[in-house]
Amino acid sequence: MPVRILQERHVVFLVQPRLVNEPFGDAGVLLDFTFKSRAILFDLGDLSPLPAGTVSKIRHVFVSHMHMDHFAGFDRMLRFLLNRTAELQIFGPPGLTDAVEAKLRSYTWNLLNETSADFSIIAAEWNLKDELTRSRFKARGRFDRETLGVEVLASPRLLVEPDFHIEAIELDHGIPCLAFAFQESLRVNVHKTALDQLSLPVGPWLTEAKRLVRSHGGPGAVVQIPGHRDMTLGDLLSAKALVTGPGERVCYATDLAFTDANVSRLLTLAGGSDYLFIEGGFLDEDKAIAASKRHLTALQAGSIAAAARVARAVPMHFSPRYLGQEQSLIEEFRAGLADQAPHADP
Ligand SMILES: [Zn+2]
Repeated sequence: MPVRILQERHVVFLVQPRLVNEPFGDAGVLLDFTFKSRAILFDLGDLSPLPAGTVSKIRHVFVSHMHMDHFAGFDRMLRFLLNRTAELQIFGPPGLTDAVEAKLRSYTWNLLNETSADFSIIAAEWNLKDELTRSRFKARGRFDRETLGVEVLASPRLLVEPDFHIEAIELDHGIPCLAFAFQESLRVNVHKTALDQLSLPVGPWLTEAKRLVRSHGGPGAVVQIPGHRDMTLGDLLSAKALVTGPGERVCYATDLAFTDANVSRLLTLAGGSDYLFIEGGFLDEDKAIAASKRHLTALQAGSIAAAARVARAVPMHFSPRYLGQEQSLIEEFRAGLADQAPHADP
């Protein structure tokens, strides 16, 4: 099984997922929307590899826990967004709102007033059960905290939109640590060969066409194509220019102890996923150290990915103690992938 991200040809997904940092850097995954100026971020560690233009596209961040290597990127994000008319939503575990407020309180905001850019941060704190409490920090209000209210969740879906939703689970890292899954509602693949046969260009019009398919637009729904005559959804589907299938699922799990409870929860979240980004930063010879820090080894991470039968497994968050030994970690991860049954600590 490959342990790097593969890009399928002729298939256009709703998002393109990728690691923010190289494997020895902080954990973090960017979900970059195809044909849209929008991105979602899993974890808020070191963001320095992301250019300003990319950071500025992020409107939703999901924080696993507030250890420094998962939250220190808050400042860089704030700096890029501060002078924009935008709303940044940050989701996370209990303590998130206080953490956001503490970050904001560490700066002096005397220059902010009602004429400042209308930028705000919404902290959405999940109580690990069925409540999501939102608080707002507005630049025009010098980032004073306003409690917006509590949403009762029917399921642990922290964000639900027509095209996708984001699920969360709680894992044990000595403290609660969240793992996330991005679930596309319906995959709409674009077949380039069929587009070529119809002399249709690839472009942003496909986003609108896919939105129509996902919102169950009828076969008579008209799709406008720049430089070409309008076509109906029915035309595009019957010519197999657009083909539907199950939506893409991208899972992200970091900082978890190798316990039965964690493995079982993670398998439920990640089972059959298209991608699993998973921490696996310790060599097997140091598994006692990994266990004491409530982390996975590369071998354990690989075995979880194999048991979850994911299409692509991407290891991340390698411990700096192994700088220069990246290949050993990858080999142990691959060995784990060959094992179908993770044997967790009870
Ligand atoms: Zn941690």
